[in-house]
Amino acid sequence: MATATVVELPLEIYKGPVDPDWCPGCGDFGVLRALELAAQKLGLATKNMFLVSGIGCSSNLPGFFHAYGVHSLHGRAVAVGSGAKLANHDLHVVITGGDGDGYGIGLNHCIHAMRRNLDLTYIVMNNQVYGLTTGQASPTTSIGHKTKSTPRGNVEMPINPIALALVSGATYVARGLAGENKHLADLIAGAIQHHGFALVDVFSPCVTYNKINTHQYFRQRCYKLENEQGYDTSNFDAAMHKALEWDPKIPIGLFYKGEQLTYEDAEPALKKGPLVHHPVRMERSLFEELVEEFY
Ligand code: SF4
Ligand code: MG
Repeated sequence: MATATVVELPLEIYKGPVDPDWCPGCGDFGVLRALELAAQKLGLATKNMFLVSGIGCSSNLPGFFHAYGVHSLHGRAVAVGSGAKLANHDLHVVITGGDGDGYGIGLNHCIHAMRRNLDLTYIVMNNQVYGLTTGQASPTTSIGHKTKSTPRGNVEMPINPIALALVSGATYVARGLAGENKHLADLIAGAIQHHGFALVDVFSPCVTYNKINTHQYFRQRCYKLENEQGYDTSNFDAAMHKALEWDPKIPIGLFYKGEQLTYEDAEPALKKGPLVHHPVRMERSLFEELVEEFY
């Protein structure tokens, strides 16, 4: 069978119109770079990419990347991304945001998109605090962590995004590390190529408000699953086992990749292709009235 040739485009074409305004050293720089590298590796045309974010430091990312994009509402990025994908399956929809936005305010959307196995790529820059609002505890803050909102130490059990994604039905579940750009780029490229819901959780340290989960903290603890002899990414039980591993050793890499019908492929209303190609069956006057109302 003939294999498609990937035409590698210059990395500069993915550079957005404005430079990032993140604090020097913020992990999000590494995630942006990895996304650029992933797009280049896959030879993606910018006109076929759609980036969606919520609110937060990391949610500014679509402004720093040259593609179609929407900086949407807090916690609503997955909902907006789902709508875009249902309207046009040909788009590579990449959702970006932080742990507070995705695992707190927007978690409900996230779980339902996973169980539907929508063909979306969701990159969560997980810094274990709310960075934009100056360091309050987030859903992934460790127990005991003293933050602005938990001065005597956080008492809440943190969410485990990998385990949650696995039980919710995501069919590509990975974790990367900002700073390991090439490794992360490969995970993101795999996620974009995957036909189904892909979560890429990324340890992306907030150097300003999280003095515990730093670049050094993760460099000392993280190891790559692909270096584990015999690790099988199609084995759900093995993935769950690894998902529960934490200090002193934390796995990164591809935990799980499975095959399952996507929502777009299963939904009868979409059998004839993306909604953008369906004829609009309504009187022109009514259509114009609606456009007028929502304009
Ligand atoms: Fe990054 Fe934290 Fe600065 Fe926000 S506050 S840009 S998350 S380092
Ligand atoms: Mg955060």
